[in-house]
Amino acid sequence: MANLYLTHRCDRGCPFCFARKVLKEGGGNVDDILTIDEIRALLDHYPGQFHELGILGGEPFLYPHLGEVLELLWSRNITAKVFTSATNPAPEALNSIEFGKNPVYFVVNIGTRDTYTDEKYRNLTDFMSRFNRITSLSYTIFDTEADFSFLFDTIDEYHLLMRFIRVGLALPIYRGGNRFISSDRFAEMGKYFVRMAETAAERSVSLGMDCGFTACMFTTREIGVLQRSGVNMAFDCCPVVDIGPGLEAWNCFPLFRLHRENALGTDNLRELYRSFDKHIGDYFGHRAGIFPQCADCKHYRRRACRGGCKSYNVV
Ligand code: SF4
Ligand code: SF4
Repeated sequence: MANLYLTHRCDRGCPFCFARKVLKEGGGNVDDILTIDEIRALLDHYPGQFHELGILGGEPFLYPHLGEVLELLWSRNITAKVFTSATNPAPEALNSIEFGKNPVYFVVNIGTRDTYTDEKYRNLTDFMSRFNRITSLSYTIFDTEADFSFLFDTIDEYHLLMRFIRVGLALPIYRGGNRFISSDRFAEMGKYFVRMAETAAERSVSLGMDCGFTACMFTTREIGVLQRSGVNMAFDCCPVVDIGPGLEAWNCFPLFRLHRENALGTDNLRELYRSFDKHIGDYFGHRAGIFPQCADCKHYRRRACRGGCKSYNVV
């Protein structure tokens, strides 16, 4: 899997946004986009190697050719997973989606009601009503006081068939630039996630953990609660390479500034991933994880925990 970063444009303004340095430091212009020709060149260069592609930005609904991207992916039997805030009107091209036939689904990054204007919230709820069969939610933990019950209420109210929430953490951008939860608050973040998991189990919703969670965020008892709540636990650092305008590729948003290369610079996708592994590994190689105790940690030695998000090493 990889992600196509289609456009810099986004008007949502999340304080923890991981993507905000891509435009500022990438030397580009806000109007630069990943073009259809570039996407075609990418697919031709790695034939048959993509089965699913993430579609993101910026905001994919502000990209002028979203329908063409979807058609292109479908013509190559590639599933599109579109990450959106859904706060802009859905592009007209989405009207022709045939549920159950076209391989596409949406992950809506959702926030609490107070983070939306009335108009934005109307767009969001219109979208969820229309596309509830192929939409799931995603939520980033940033405020550990925030009431998360709205997530489960939203799933019920809009009858989302995919009763699943992808939960991420507000991670730092390498060398700063966004608001994030500091690593000395991991235990607090862990407790918040455990409460969320217990509620999810009661409300028949599954939770998934995005990269950056660590095993030591949780006590042994809390790990047991997560297991009993059916959470698919992962304490991973598992980059999904992003490919943006000009076919520039980077490891993940937080490490955008560290290293970028041409997405067509290798002969197969595995080599591209290996190339990033090597650069990132060479840079952070002397550190096992983000804490001094990672080097001697049994979870790290068993590879059950990858030592947290590397961007914490440099802020
Ligand atoms: S490897 Fe590091 S981050 Fe992971 S559980 Fe061990 S001490 Fe914590
Ligand atoms: S460094 Fe690892 S954990 Fe952090 S965002 Fe990138 S892939 Fe995820």
